[in-house]
Amino acid sequence: MTQTATPTKCTECHRPLRAATSIARGRGPVCDLKVRRRAAAERLARPFKDADRAATKALRHLADKALVPTAAARQYLMVATAGDATYLVDTIARTCTCKAHQHHSRCTHLLAADVAEITTSRRAAYALAA
Ligand SMILES: [Zn+2]
Ligand SMILES: [Zn+2]
Repeated sequence: MTQTATPTKCTECHRPLRAATSIARGRGPVCDLKVRRRAAAERLARPFKDADRAATKALRHLADKALVPTAAARQYLMVATAGDATYLVDTIARTCTCKAHQHHSRCTHLLAADVAEITTSRRAAYALAA
């Protein structure tokens, strides 16, 4: 293994790192989640016609905290970007009640929910979405 200087600052935001796990990873927990979410969104957005745009939109939904867990397992409410509608997203049934999903069988809401689920533990996903 190559010996490199231990990073003491986050490679993303340049804030100092304190926790041993953060130092080992080179990123704080918030930046690490962002990086992992970006990677997951880019990978999962591949089937979309405009994959870059879909990934960006899904990440924006998460950043806006538009995804709200319901009492039912793996079902979420998604507040529309305009704030004038709410959709029900189900990551098991692979459905969303928005128009885009009815037309194309895919949408950035379901994509956002998938990204949230694969990059966070269930408990953490709930805390983040709250
Ligand atoms: Zn950072
Ligand atoms: Zn949708």
